Parts: sequence; C-alpha cells; structure tokens
Amino acid sequence: MNEMILLKLGELVLKGLNRRAFEDKLQANIHRRLNGFGQFRVYTRQSTTYVEPMKEDCDMDGAWEAMKKVFGVVGLSRARACQKDKDAILAACREYLDRRLKTAHTFKVETKRADKTFPMTSIQLSQYVGGELDELYPNLQVDVHHPELTVYVEIRDYAAFVHADPDPGAGGLPVGINGRAVALLSGDIDSPVASWMIAKRGVALEMVHFFSYPYTSPQAKEKVLELARLLTPWCGHLTVHVVPFTAIQEELRRSCPEELFTIIMRRFMMRISQQVAQRCGAKALVTGECLGQVASQTMEAMAVTGAVADIPILRPCVGLDKEEIVQIARKIGTFDTSILPYEDCCTVFTPRHPRLRPLPGEVELAEEKLDVETMVQQAVEGIERIHI
Ligand code: ATP
Ligand code: MG
Repeated sequence: MNEMILLKLGELVLKGLNRRAFEDKLQANIHRRLNGFGQFRVYTRQSTTYVEPMKEDCDMDGAWEAMKKVFGVVGLSRARACQKDKDAILAACREYLDRRLKTAHTFKVETKRADKTFPMTSIQLSQYVGGELDELYPNLQVDVHHPELTVYVEIRDYAAFVHADPDPGAGGLPVGINGRAVALLSGDIDSPVASWMIAKRGVALEMVHFFSYPYTSPQAKEKVLELARLLTPWCGHLTVHVVPFTAIQEELRRSCPEELFTIIMRRFMMRISQQVAQRCGAKALVTGECLGQVASQTMEAMAVTGAVADIPILRPCVGLDKEEIVQIARKIGTFDTSILPYEDCCTVFTPRHPRLRPLPGEVELAEEKLDVETMVQQAVEGIERIHI
C-alpha cells in the first residue's frame, strides 16, 4: 500500500471516562462511511485513527473526501508509504511534500517509531531527514518550536510513512454519541443547516417532512429527499418520515381564524413530530427557525408553538443571520438544491396578515373546534417512511 489516511480525533479525547465509547462510535461511523471505497483496516492509537487500504484497488480519493465529513475528526492527512530506509524516507518527503517544502519558510521533522527494530532512533532520523531537507530547500530554516510546516515520519511494522500537517476535519462529535433527535426538514435553506449543526454535536437524526399533495408537487418531495441524501455523508443513513399534511391544512383553513393559521399549523407539526420522536426513541426536535426571520419566528410565536411539545426543540440557527446560514449551506453542499423553486407546505394558504405575537389563550380557543387528537393520529398513521 503506498498511501493511508490519518485522522486526528477531536473533543472526544478530552472526555476522560467516555473516551472508549467515543472512539468505538467514531470507528464504527468511519467504517460505514468507507463503504463503497474498498476494504480498509481502521484502528486508533493515541488519539489518531489510521485508515489503511487493504487492497490496491481502494479508492483513496473517495475515502479521503468521505473522511472529511466525519464528525469527531478535527484534522486529517494523507500519508505516503515508502521503504523503511532513511534515504527512501527522504525521497518520499521530496516527492510527496515538495510543494509544501518549497513554500514554507520554517519547518521541523518529527518521527514516531512503532517498529523499535529500526536502526536509528526517532531523534536521529528526524535530524537526518531535517538536515538533508534544510540543504535541499534553501527557503527552509529549521524551527523546532513554531514551524510553519511539520514533516511527520512514522516507522510502522511493514513500511514507513511521511505526511505533513493535517487539513481541517469536520470537527464536532461522532454521530450517535449524543442520542437521537427528529429534525423537521422543509425544502428550504435553513432546516438542512440546522440538521447538520445538530448532527455535528453527535446526534443521530431522523427526518420529518410535511407534504401537502397536491398543493405541493412530487418534485417538492423529491427535493427534500435529495436534501436528506446530501446530508447523509455527514449524518449517516437517514429515514425520512413523510407526513401527509393536506387534510390538516384544509381543516385549519376551514375552521381557524386566518391570522392564526400558520401558528396552529406549526403546533400540529410539533405534535406529529413528537409522536415520531417517541416511536424512534428521539429526545428532541430540531427546526431551522431563526429569530425574527418570518412572522412565525417571533419569541411569542415560538413559545406558542413550543407549548405543545414536551421535549426540547433545538433551534441551532436561532441566532444566525441569513448570510451566515447561507454560508454553511454552501459549505455542506445543500444550498444549490435548497434554492430550487419548489413550493413548501408553509406557503400553502399563507395568511395575508399572520399574527406576529399570538397569545396562548386565543390559539387554544381556536383549537377547541378541532379534534386535535384524531387529526394527529390520522396523519401519523399515513406516514410514509423512506430510507436513505
Ligand atoms: P426553512 O428555510 O428551513 O424552510 P424558513 O425560514 O422557511 O425555514 P418556515 O418555513 O417558517 O421557515 O419553517 C420553519 C421551520 O419549520 C423549518 O426550518 C423546518 O424546520 C420546519 N418546517 C417548515 N416546513 C416544513 C415541512 N414542510 N416539513 C418539515 N418541516 C418543516
Ligand atoms: Mg420554509
């Protein structure tokens, strides 16, 4: 094998007692994400996880891209294998790290020896390789304290590896280490970002989408499934619970004051999502709400919406500006799909003058006319589950 991938583990290292559980979870997630790129050996030593191809036909570029999206990894580097010989190691550095060696001003070499039979000590090898590179690259000066570039040499059982400083990883915590939540996924920009932010904190997700056929089109649903698919490299496999929402919306339009339509509709979303959460063992809901962005996102509206849920509603976008949300959406790759022009159920029957500061009392009064429980049950029974 002439290459492998090294992953630097993030916060989990700090978590003392839980460290083992964190590493196991991360390793399982890594294994799953490597699916389709070939056969790899994955193991962890001293807060570095090694991803080693087992066969020549492994797709290293694919694996590298996949590993950049694994939460719990703070940095990653590709390492080049060579013979366990000081000059072969030097040649590998020149060949593999040439560009970085040419552009840096200061550097040092750091050696780790797993194979203690190697004839030089770590320090001797670092000094040899460092000295030679210093001569070969006139732009370079050794600085062991604050080098711009660190060249790492690892002597392992069957080969030596060289690599440079790591690229930034996805950060966060391994998905699944912090339980499960249900994310309300619309087809828009905010909710995929909110889902991603919560997954980043180690939460496994299930998605709920409210679908108002025929007011919203099959393409609108496809768009949401595509967004979920785009999230899977970060979140792992996902189940999207597609809730038939048309009957509820039509009933609300018939029997509720127009200005309360949106807020009451959102309470139904929460009730139904909470039932989904109960069934899949999720402990919170996630929405893409953002303070003051639209009428239903005032503090009063959030209070009235949240009042029907007994579990926390996580709103990670709440304090972000639209531009900041867009930036994340671009980074995680959901933006272009989010802006495709399909309608969302929230745009169906939108009131002309939605109440900005609804009172709990008036909303409850309006709901008295409804058979809330039956409406919720019927919607839940009609859920279509799509595994992605
Ligand atoms: P987004 O960009 O995520 O749609 P938004 O700014 O358009 O957010 P709303 O449409 O009011 O705001 O929706 C607020 C939140 O409610 C969304 O972020 C999402 O979590 C949830 N939501 C809205 N519509 C749906 C839907 N059809 N299915 C599932 N969840 C939805
Ligand atoms: Mg929306």
